[in-house]
Amino acid sequence: MDAIETYIRDILDFPKPGIVFKDLTPLLNDAKATTMCLDALLYQLGGAKIDKVVGMEARGFFFGTLLAQKLNAGFIPVRKPGKLPYKTLSETYALEYGTDILEIHEDAITKGDRILIHDDVLATGGTAEAVCRLVERLGGEIVQCNFIMELEFLKGGEKLKPYSIGSVLKY
Ligand code: AMP
Repeated sequence: MDAIETYIRDILDFPKPGIVFKDLTPLLNDAKATTMCLDALLYQLGGAKIDKVVGMEARGFFFGTLLAQKLNAGFIPVRKPGKLPYKTLSETYALEYGTDILEIHEDAITKGDRILIHDDVLATGGTAEAVCRLVERLGGEIVQCNFIMELEFLKGGEKLKPYSIGSVLKY
């Protein structure tokens, strides 16, 4: 069995010039590697009790739902505007150029719920920071933000300073 990082494929200049896209589809394509990555994410959490896992559209859904099932927790999708069918709360966050919006169902979290936030990649941290705001506006208690990959040179961890961060692979 190869190490987890051998299942991550670098795609140069995707989706635009200058970006090295971390493609996790080879990892998803291998059952043993997926299990190994899931175990590594759970290890980072250190046995903390979790009520709900919040996963970001779209690549946060893959391991977010696997984590939720392993933790006997609910799963909550955070989505791009207009995708969630019920009443939503939204947060706007800054991108390199312009802004983007993320939404969560307003009844997804009960005050005091212990929340694990999950996404595939932590880059500049803007996405995860917006999700933290959504969770806290609904009264959730953030136990950890965890990621398969952290691009440390982009310093996203600084935006998430108040929270525990878990990442399986660091670049
Ligand atoms: P950021 O808000 O800058 O931390 O960006 C994180 C979001 O963008 C995550 O949902 C990632 O899926 C995606 N992302 C950012 N950079 C990359 C990258 N180099 N490779 C793959 N996904 C990325």
